[in-house]
Amino acid sequence: MGITVRQPAPRNASIRTAPIRTSAGLVEAGLAEATALPVLEQVAASFAVSVTDQMAGLIDPTDPNDPVARQFIPAGEELRTTPGELADPIGDGPHSPVKGIVHRYRDRVLLKAVNVCPVYCRFCFRREMVGPGSETLDGAELDTALAYIAEHEEVWEVILTGGDPLILSPRRLAEIVTRLDAIPHVGIVRFHTRVPVVDPDRVTPELVAALKGKRIASWLMLHANHWRELDDTARGAIARLVDAGIPLLSQTVLLKGVNDDAETLTRTFRALVQARVKPHYLHQGDLAKGTAHFRTTIQRGRALMRELRGDVSGLCQPTYVLDIPGGHGKVPLTADYLAPDGEGGWTVTDPRGGRHAYSEEVE
Ligand SMILES: *Cc1c(COP(=O)(O)O)cnc(C)c1O
Ligand code: SF4
Repeated sequence: MGITVRQPAPRNASIRTAPIRTSAGLVEAGLAEATALPVLEQVAASFAVSVTDQMAGLIDPTDPNDPVARQFIPAGEELRTTPGELADPIGDGPHSPVKGIVHRYRDRVLLKAVNVCPVYCRFCFRREMVGPGSETLDGAELDTALAYIAEHEEVWEVILTGGDPLILSPRRLAEIVTRLDAIPHVGIVRFHTRVPVVDPDRVTPELVAALKGKRIASWLMLHANHWRELDDTARGAIARLVDAGIPLLSQTVLLKGVNDDAETLTRTFRALVQARVKPHYLHQGDLAKGTAHFRTTIQRGRALMRELRGDVSGLCQPTYVLDIPGGHGKVPLTADYLAPDGEGGWTVTDPRGGRHAYSEEVE
């Protein structure tokens, strides 16, 4: 096979163009080979495709292992489903009392106001639910979802997720935040989003202002998987949020061929901390359909986290977690540092593997 030189379509940095949403568009932009079209079409028939300008601009089309391309450009492997993969891997369905609400943990609910994203990650855990179609909750559905929150006094935190809530207009976001602000038992609104990284120009001062209530505290959980995503433009968007007083945390998915080595993880978590984002969760890949080529073993994930512990700043250490399939919740997969010594005390393992006796001197 000969080598095809792909010529990316010229992009004008000052003009934001619409995301690429078709297989032909990906080929035209130099992000996929024309010969891959039939496979791309087949994948796109099952799972939505979208690549923003910002992400397309970060892809080096000459690099066959580009970590940004791997996250957003469809691949034939997505057509393979393993026996244990599920349409609803983290079990949102069984915990959804009304449309748009997932109430799995007592003190917090998910509010899925929107089912679309600016990009579609090829490993998405909600890939069978997100995408063009039933896009946002309509007025009556939003009323019902907010009424559910108002009726459940144990709900202290509302997590806007989806889809990506920051795809909504500042006006709609402000409406939701204002209505949550008026529910006395709600203390926190948390936004789960990729927008500051994948479409940073959307983070305008109006949007930032819309995220803040008068009484409730706003927190933002940024989904970012590789330091290359955090270019100057993305860091600018993050700075607008942090400077406005919104604390930022991040969640990263452990992805084979993207970030499953200690050097990439270290560089990614450092880039986040440097941007004033605290790495919070490192997720074991969920059992979403057609994503086996992205998953690493838990043993490997734990070994990676062990490598980071001790050598890398504690600010750069997220909790490695698994969302138990079926809706049973998230649990830490932290390496075991502690074991009973059989005599009422403990054996503690240090980051280098050395073992130490520890006795609890309590009165
Ligand atoms: C992940 C998740 C949350 C948030 O859990 P935290 O550990 O607080 O980040 C809440 N509800 C559901 C259904 C979730 O899947
Ligand atoms: S941004 Fe989140 S919800 Fe949207 S495709 Fe990516 S992982 Fe899925």
